[in-house]
Amino acid sequence: MKICFATNNSNKIKEVALLLEDEIQLLGLKDIGCTEELREDQSTLEGNAEQKARYVFEKYNINCFADDTGLEVEALNNEPGVFSARFAGPQRSDEDNMALLSERLNSSENRKARFRTVICAFIDDQKYFFEGVVNGEITKEHNGDKGFGYDPIFIPTGYSQTFAQMSTEEKNKISHRSIAVRKLVDFLKTNS
Ligand code: IMP
Repeated sequence: MKICFATNNSNKIKEVALLLEDEIQLLGLKDIGCTEELREDQSTLEGNAEQKARYVFEKYNINCFADDTGLEVEALNNEPGVFSARFAGPQRSDEDNMALLSERLNSSENRKARFRTVICAFIDDQKYFFEGVVNGEITKEHNGDKGFGYDPIFIPTGYSQTFAQMSTEEKNKISHRSIAVRKLVDFLKTNS
């Protein structure tokens, strides 16, 4: 079985390819001749994941899936959520996003937050959703220099280090994205 991951992010493709077994061949957008930037202008993670997956499925007629992730902060009514990448503006700066988040949270005692990944897959004309969540809290200081995005200010529940202090392997074992991806992979393995 062949399936396309509708992303231009080669790290994400590698991460999923590692989890798949030989009978499932993972293709990237380049492999199917898609060189355009996929639109994601919906108001929910589900909407964005579906928009990207549906576009590729309908235009290229191939089984495929797409993901979208957001950081949902309880004291901010789940903001920045679907706007996580451009929370502080279109420059999509991790530093600016973290600074704005700290400013908005200010001295709030409720630091609870979660990363949520949604995957939408189109397989043989059927649509499926898979979700991965990791709960944690937003720190008052930045710690660590690994990872990306909000990693330096997010400590997953049950741990004492931020995501940015963990190795990629450690983070991948528990991350929102890996939870969603494992659900998709289990589904593909049992249905291919
Ligand atoms: P994407 O949907 O994977 O592109 O994620 C959207 C945005 O959410 C990113 O630009 C980051 O700001 C944030 N984000 C997603 N995943 C992570 C993560 O694992 N750590 C930190 N930030 C993340």
